[in-house]
Amino acid sequence: MQRTADAVIIGGGIMGASCGHFLAKADIGSVVLLERRTLAAVSTGHSAANVRCSYSNKVTVELALRAMDMFENDREELGGPTGFRRTGQLILYGPEHAEIGRQVLANEARHGTGTREIGVDEALEIAPQLSPHGIAMACHQRRAGYADPVRTTRTLVETAERFGLRAHEGVGARGIMAAGGRVTGVETDQGRIDTPLVINAAGPWGGRVGASSGLACSIRWSRESDLVVEAPAGFGALPIVADPICHVYFRPHGDGGVLAGLDYPKELEPLDIDDYAPALDAATRARIESGLFRRLPALRGARLVKGWASIYTITDDWHPVVGAEPELVGYYACFGGSGHGFKLGAPIGESLAAVITGATPRVDLHALRPTRFAEGQPITSAWGSGNRA
Ligand SMILES: Cc1cc2nc3c(=O)[nH]c(=O)nc-3n(C[C@H](O)[C@H](O)[C@H](O)COP(=O)(O)OP(=O)(O)OC[C@H]3O[C@@H](n4cnc5c(N)ncnc54)[C@H](O)[C@@H]3O)c2cc1C
Repeated sequence: MQRTADAVIIGGGIMGASCGHFLAKADIGSVVLLERRTLAAVSTGHSAANVRCSYSNKVTVELALRAMDMFENDREELGGPTGFRRTGQLILYGPEHAEIGRQVLANEARHGTGTREIGVDEALEIAPQLSPHGIAMACHQRRAGYADPVRTTRTLVETAERFGLRAHEGVGARGIMAAGGRVTGVETDQGRIDTPLVINAAGPWGGRVGASSGLACSIRWSRESDLVVEAPAGFGALPIVADPICHVYFRPHGDGGVLAGLDYPKELEPLDIDDYAPALDAATRARIESGLFRRLPALRGARLVKGWASIYTITDDWHPVVGAEPELVGYYACFGGSGHGFKLGAPIGESLAAVITGATPRVDLHALRPTRFAEGQPITSAWGSGNRA
């Protein structure tokens, strides 16, 4: 392994892969990515990977819109295939959510996302499998879809190798070295790499990696699960559906499957990020299936194909921390995606690379700066805490 680099990225999930891709493309010299397991091994590889733009604050909707452009044109924008399938998205609101729904819609309208409020009848025309239970209002976004998160991560890394990215799987970073308030290197399992620039994209371990150079970041973690059931013959095509009424989200999965997970608000499920059971547990399965079968009665009794548990990494306002830390020149944070970090990863990497190289970022990332909490400027969301924002 090389002993010097112009930049080192710690973590090979979607955030690290995207930062590596766009930094290498920006021609900054040698870029090394360290992933102590395999690419996309943790949150990214277990993501539902929904790409949608129904968000209530400026920075998230701007990033999500950019993500939709990138996934729709993945070969040109991201270097190759991402498995993106455009399905459209329906959001179902009960009477208790209608005010939030209109706030989200108003924010989307300011950004021209094209999301429309539609009647229940039209929602049922788009997805006739849905039970109308409790729906007071619905919105439709035709450009939304979902991607293959492992394929996306590998594409970003593999196609940047020709621009100078060197990715090392199975190599962990032990700490960031600094002197005189500047990054000087990264200590790895295989020795030291001298570098003036480090991006901390260590996902759930982002707080600890930052702490290795004295930087504090408040992080919580929650165990989050998805499952896939087999749809019966003739079930038909589905869009992505966000269903706060039945507390679930779901979408098609491959050919003939339906993937589902729990919608917030729900209690956080704290876990030990170094030692947690990666299997779907019976209680969570029952909760997801209860909401899913209420909304999609034709799935009752459907065979469980698979299920899993992984990690949400949650900052104090549920939005990622991205950008420089004034106390340590050459250090950039890029973690804390909670439930929306997959879709935001590619545009965040693109704009962070622009910030680092002095170019104009496509999306202004200032709102995500790590210092926003100390400055009393957290990001707000109409939904409050959770996987809607
Ligand atoms: C069940 C579930 C469903 C989700 N659904 C969606 C969705 O539909 N849409 C969406 O946008 N988002 C979704 N998310 C959220 C999204 O998946 C995450 O926010 C995103 O994947 C986080 O990416 P990351 O790169 O920050 O972290 P990770 O993918 O966890 O990557 C961090 C990597 O860093 C590595 N690492 C850590 N420490 C070190 C070290 N010291 N040295 C080297 N490597 C290190 C880890 O091994 C890991 O591979 C979902 C998440 C879950 C769990």
